[in-house]
Amino acid sequence: MSAPVAPPQAAARRRVLIIEDEPDLVRGLRDALEFEGFDTISSGLGREGVELARARAPDLVLLDLMLPDVNGFAVCEQIRQTSPLVPIIMLTARSQESDKIRGLESGADDYVTKPFSIGELVARIGAIFRRLQRSGASQGGAAASDEIRVGAAVVYPKRHELVRKGKTYALSFYEVELVRLLAERAGEPVARDEILEKIWGVSGHASTRSVDNFIVKLRKKIEQSLDKPEHILTVYGFGYKLAP
Ligand code: CA
Repeated sequence: MSAPVAPPQAAARRRVLIIEDEPDLVRGLRDALEFEGFDTISSGLGREGVELARARAPDLVLLDLMLPDVNGFAVCEQIRQTSPLVPIIMLTARSQESDKIRGLESGADDYVTKPFSIGELVARIGAIFRRLQRSGASQGGAAASDEIRVGAAVVYPKRHELVRKGKTYALSFYEVELVRLLAERAGEPVARDEILEKIWGVSGHASTRSVDNFIVKLRKKIEQSLDKPEHILTVYGFGYKLAP
């Protein structure tokens, strides 16, 4: 007899790990996420959060920057060691750009600045899961999206990796989805608003800075020169265009 058949991926409930020490915020997030049909687990401590991420394999992590025991940057780095691909969204009370950049460099995929709208965050999470569902569903099919070539770089979406000139770079969830979306429409300008809506699940009123930050991250890995990008081109006042 063959091995028992695993339940289809689509039927599995997505699990969100919340690492946050403000009880009211945790309650609000849990209620809103569970209302949308997601499972939630939470901890108010960084160390326990790292342990939960390892033991329970969440599909997404919401991570507060200011925790009582360990700071969020360190927690993020530790989660990345055991879960290189899980999307991590940092919840930060600070608005300094340096913290955001440090958060992204420590392995976070995105950040939201408190106070934020729980509804908007839940919409973002829903968009991430739809993209994950889509890329998961395409894995068994044609190999069309197996690799994406951009100049001297080759992106491997399933492995969340980019190889350029013999060097391998890890890509975060948003970097993979961004390059995938631009590649699907190669040579065609894609509006910032559309990128935000398709990948971040938020509409135009929200900040488009997230998109710009991820474009910079991608360019660092893809382009020969950041000052004169040749592949990820800015379409002024509109968005971006991929020139493969
Ligand atoms: Ca806190």
